[in-house]
Amino acid sequence: MSQPIRTAEDLKGVEAAGLATLYPDKLKIVVGSASCGLAVGAGAVLAAAIATVKELGLDATIARTGCIGFCSQEPLLDLLLPNGPRISYARMTPEKTRSLLAAYAKSGELSPDMALGRFAGEEHVLTGEGHVYTSSQKAAEAVPEWSSLDFFRGQQKVILRSCGSIDPLSIDEAIARGAYRGAMVAIQEMPQDKVIDEVINSGLRGRGGAAFPTGQKWRFARKAAGDTKYVVCNADEGEPGACMDRTVLEGDPHATLEGMLIGAFAIGAQEGFVYVRNEYPLAIATLQTAIDEAEKYGLLGDDILGSGWSFRVRIRVGAGAYICGEETALLESIEGAAGEPRSRPPFPVVSGLWGCPTVVNNVKTWASVAPIITRGAAWYAAMGTRSTKGTTVFSLEGAVNNSGLVEIPFGLTLREMIYGIGGGIPNDRPLKAVQAGGAARGCIPPSFLDLTIDMEDRPNESLMIGTGGIIVLDDKACMVDMARYLVEFFLDESCGKCVPCREGLRQMAGIMDRICTGEGSEADLFLLERLAGTMKAAAVCGLGGMAPSAVMTNLQHFRDEFETHIRDKQCPAGVCRGLAPTGTTN
Ligand code: SF4
Repeated sequence: MSQPIRTAEDLKGVEAAGLATLYPDKLKIVVGSASCGLAVGAGAVLAAAIATVKELGLDATIARTGCIGFCSQEPLLDLLLPNGPRISYARMTPEKTRSLLAAYAKSGELSPDMALGRFAGEEHVLTGEGHVYTSSQKAAEAVPEWSSLDFFRGQQKVILRSCGSIDPLSIDEAIARGAYRGAMVAIQEMPQDKVIDEVINSGLRGRGGAAFPTGQKWRFARKAAGDTKYVVCNADEGEPGACMDRTVLEGDPHATLEGMLIGAFAIGAQEGFVYVRNEYPLAIATLQTAIDEAEKYGLLGDDILGSGWSFRVRIRVGAGAYICGEETALLESIEGAAGEPRSRPPFPVVSGLWGCPTVVNNVKTWASVAPIITRGAAWYAAMGTRSTKGTTVFSLEGAVNNSGLVEIPFGLTLREMIYGIGGGIPNDRPLKAVQAGGAARGCIPPSFLDLTIDMEDRPNESLMIGTGGIIVLDDKACMVDMARYLVEFFLDESCGKCVPCREGLRQMAGIMDRICTGEGSEADLFLLERLAGTMKAAAVCGLGGMAPSAVMTNLQHFRDEFETHIRDKQCPAGVCRGLAPTGTTN
């Protein structure tokens, strides 16, 4: 049984153990083993590494890590030498792994062949310190520095600070990069109101889509009457194409746990829940290990850090309903009821779980908290735009050369995101549309590319990015078919509690089906607009209120494509079956 951590000296002792495995005095082989890597063969790469090390008699340590964000280059394998460098190798196979390790066994040098990038160092974001890779190996210098790659240029890792670097099952390695220092400072040195002030001053807003100021939410909960209070982490990530929360939990679960610990201390909660969908088994298992390890060190449980205060975190596994991402439906589900939204007010900060004050924040929001405490509100507020401070994580998917998880400060433009970090459209095809900020936002045309990414829509200036999914569509996509897909998605996910949403979506799906099969009429467009207006005005929760926007936004920006389907019975992109293509797709 590990000794509980009580002092900064205790934390330093664990840090030393973590540094010893993070940067060992021998060759280290690290395989990206998050869901994205495992889906394309990371398991076989890891097995090949283990077998080859044994076969060649190499003195090496082998480790797993989470996703570093560059999902389109997975499986990724990194080789580190004690005197540097650290080199990442992309799209690895068992054969490539054997040949790479054989080359090292022969020369004692890391090969530049097949290398994607080289690390000059790694910043430990929580402390502002870091690790520098000094290298005397000439061949390695031919490999481009990691931060010079298009995909990483412009990125700033705060939420994903340790993903792709630590073994997510090792709390020691998380602590070696600064984890739980923020919790120690908050719990041992700061009055609760000062912690909340710091979060308010940082400008942090909820990253789940609603963008409510996080510190204000905490203050409401702290002031709310009642001795029993809760914090909840919303990890019910259901947006098509989004996997940011999963990646954080799989790659650095302590980032979220520490944020919850600080938030619970600030509002006076004794218990927390992480609500994760059951499609995320690796995230659930990783998080449970992290909770167990934190309890062993006395960072969760009773008498945390010798403060006399107790706080426990439990995982609740959801069945995968999109609506449970809505915070009141999520609370219903944790209580064991069907995941249906509650009418508000009262808001959860006053009456949440079992009628007690409850703070619900998203994974990315919780993971942003600890650096605000260790580096200060001013440090955090220096990143971002005048209205939205800090960074957030996007999943960049679809028709881009570089896809994966991207963390940027607010204020970059969509163009910089797609043509800079994303590396442009494969085969230089024309960009047709972007679905940015979640399914309910619909698709916007290229004329929006120079708007900055923000948590607020400001005409001709910024674009509210919502939950953080960005799907890029080239000219092979049909905007009418896309609208049909989105309506069907929301119809599947509607909880059915209220008529405007349940029946409105059914009617919309029928109309979209008619248009996509060449049986639509001009009157259908009018009907879509009337239905959307009714749903927005009368639906009980955000799903029913926002879902029509998925169709209306496409209709607003791509009306000619809808009309071509109706009037000419043609699908310009050649996607809708039964309709003749008129476009230039091939
Ligand atoms: Fe359920 Fe839709 Fe009504 Fe929300 S709007 S309560 S998801 S039926």
